[in-house]
Amino acid sequence: MKKIILISLFAIVVAAYFLFDIGQYFSLEFIKSQQESFNTYYQQHTFLSLVFYFVVYVIVTGASLPGAAILTLLGGAIFGLFTGVILISFASTIGASLAFLVSRFVLRDAIQKRFSDKLNVINKGIEKEGAFYLFALRLVPAFPFFVINLVMGLTNIKLKTFYWVSQLGMLAGTIVFVNAGAQLAQLDSLAGILSPGIIFSFVLLAVLPFIGRAIVNRINSHRILKKYPKPDHFDTNLLVLGAGAAGLVSAYIAAAVKAKVTLIEKHKMGGDCLNTGCVPSKAIIRSAKLLSQIAHSQKYGIASASAKFKFSDIMARVHDVISKVEPHDSIERYTKLGVDVINAEARLVSPYAVEVDGKTITARNIVLGTGASPFVPPIEGIENVDYYTSDNLWQMSEKPKTMLILGGGPIGCELTQAFNRLGIKVTQIEMAPRILLREDSEVSELIQNRFIKEGVALKLGHKAKQFIKRKKKDILIAEFEGSDVEIAFDSLVVAVGRSANTSGYGLEELGVNLTDRGTIEVNEYLQTNIPTIYACGDVTGPYQFTHTAAHQAWYAAVNSLFGVFKRFKVDYRVIPWTTFCDPEVARVGLNEIEAKEQGVAYEVTNYGLDDLDRAIADSETLGFVKVLTVPGKDKILGVTIVGDHAGDLIAEYVLAMKYGLGLNKILGTIHIYPTMAEANKYAAGNWKRAHAPEKLLQWVAKFHRWRLG
Ligand SMILES: Cc1cc2nc3c(=O)[nH]c(=O)nc-3n(C[C@H](O)[C@H](O)[C@H](O)COP(=O)(O)OP(=O)(O)OC[C@H]3O[C@@H](n4cnc5c(N)ncnc54)[C@H](O)[C@@H]3O)c2cc1C
Repeated sequence: MKKIILISLFAIVVAAYFLFDIGQYFSLEFIKSQQESFNTYYQQHTFLSLVFYFVVYVIVTGASLPGAAILTLLGGAIFGLFTGVILISFASTIGASLAFLVSRFVLRDAIQKRFSDKLNVINKGIEKEGAFYLFALRLVPAFPFFVINLVMGLTNIKLKTFYWVSQLGMLAGTIVFVNAGAQLAQLDSLAGILSPGIIFSFVLLAVLPFIGRAIVNRINSHRILKKYPKPDHFDTNLLVLGAGAAGLVSAYIAAAVKAKVTLIEKHKMGGDCLNTGCVPSKAIIRSAKLLSQIAHSQKYGIASASAKFKFSDIMARVHDVISKVEPHDSIERYTKLGVDVINAEARLVSPYAVEVDGKTITARNIVLGTGASPFVPPIEGIENVDYYTSDNLWQMSEKPKTMLILGGGPIGCELTQAFNRLGIKVTQIEMAPRILLREDSEVSELIQNRFIKEGVALKLGHKAKQFIKRKKKDILIAEFEGSDVEIAFDSLVVAVGRSANTSGYGLEELGVNLTDRGTIEVNEYLQTNIPTIYACGDVTGPYQFTHTAAHQAWYAAVNSLFGVFKRFKVDYRVIPWTTFCDPEVARVGLNEIEAKEQGVAYEVTNYGLDDLDRAIADSETLGFVKVLTVPGKDKILGVTIVGDHAGDLIAEYVLAMKYGLGLNKILGTIHIYPTMAEANKYAAGNWKRAHAPEKLLQWVAKFHRWRLG
């Protein structure tokens, strides 16, 4: 019954507002035209005016009607700064609390539906930060005033807390608005608009969100950092943990802008990419590709060709490649750049300090670039197998006869094809129905077919259950379509993903927050919940690539060093990547799976490499360029390229997307003949043909016929 009465009351107020066009009375013109009479009435009936104004304000804000801002200006104009602020501060908070109650007890379902995205964000904030989060929302208007009231009603915050935090949080905004109203009231000619009072009040209005944000940041920093004594003097401006792509680039940037920077690496300079990731994997892929080309020499008009090789020589070449790239990431190079490099394990001991080699080093800010490690799933019996991961794979010196590779992601696929081409009988196990699950299904299909053709035993839909030993032989028991299958192997490579390195160096003790994915949680400035500590690269994600680690490093370094003046939000709009199997799979932006998931409308344009002159000349015709565009518009949403050197070809689309260039621009650019890059232009040509103005062309055809005479 109570609910019905409340809903009816609410409906009556809202209906009356719109039916009688009450909104017109909350316009600046109306108020300005009536200012004289309002003032006179206020002089004659002061108490009544205050009560009437108060009630109207509470109704408008309580019913979440538009007009609160204008009412506030009016309050300032009639009552002046002091009375206006007191009156409005209470009226707005009571109104907000009414809206909060209506939402909590009456409109729950409707509001949940209408503002579910905001509800999720706010709920998470409240869960973590409690009342301070509401205070921050009030001070920094990230959401409209009425949305905060309504959505807060659905959280579990107490009414009492909501009331006092709202009153306190809205006070600064109320003062600024009421002051603007009071100033505007004194305006009697257009010239007065340039008076210092008016200009100052408008400046205050404009800078309010920034001041609010600064206050919130300050309070937040203080809340977290107050437990730790701040050194009077810091040893260094920036401490960087980890010398992988993320840490190296952070240190490089800090040194380039003349900061004192200390880089600490516990293992090898260059991190995973140089020592156990990109570089060794690409080196082995190259040797494997040559062997594959020799094995398929007939394709190139060579009746037979053979290769004599030792597995250990190929592995030696891998290490040789690493040592040739090493100088780029070396201690010597970074020392010359002005970075203090320490080769030891660091441990965070406070938001300002790490302990390394028994010494404490203090810094104003810290960047964590501590990377990720191969994830080893807890499959029964795995501990009894001498398995490899990308960490120790490169130490393998003898060629196993058979190899089982667990995982159908990019790393699993690259290794599967490479080792298979080196003459190892590889079985690849993937739990999902296809490999490269993030890519569109035709991409997976093309690569799967290629793998099968090359002799890989591809086991899709196989769930690894248990490792056993039988007659000294290692065997995997996997579940496939409800039954157990056994797969024997000589060596096992686990490549099922990588988890962020977040334990063992003080994160837990400091209370650095982690995400559900187990990575370090950062905000859009790559700052952790400890304001002096930033994170970038694999340890925070969301991407796990060398180029994204380097991209993030710029933001982490610049925001930590110059955040007091200006902070930059990390830009993830155009992120490319490549899986370096043969043919390569490169992508930037959306594919069809993601477009569908995100409800983004798209058109597809395809171009097959079997049509491309250079691809035909190179006998590398397997693959395609697939472009997703906004329907009817020359705006690229995403591109997938499968083909030889796809990772290089995609660069043109990365540039186009980054700078908002469309397919017309790619089509209008001269591409050298005959190159693989021409594929990009032909894909753009296909799009253009599909969007040709048919009607106009019919008229043009008529024109030409007429010109024939
Ligand atoms: C097989 C394989 C192939 C790959 N291929 C590619 C590819 O082709 N392209 C691509 O873009 N990406 C590739 N990657 C991913 C790429 O290697 C990573 O994304 C990249 O290395 C991440 O860099 P990072 O600096 O975040 O972490 P890392 O390179 O892991 O560096 C972190 C460093 O921090 C150090 N560290 C950790 N804790 C501490 C501590 N407490 N004190 C001091 N030091 C510490 C570690 O020793 C490590 O050196 C590949 C990865 C693998 C495994």
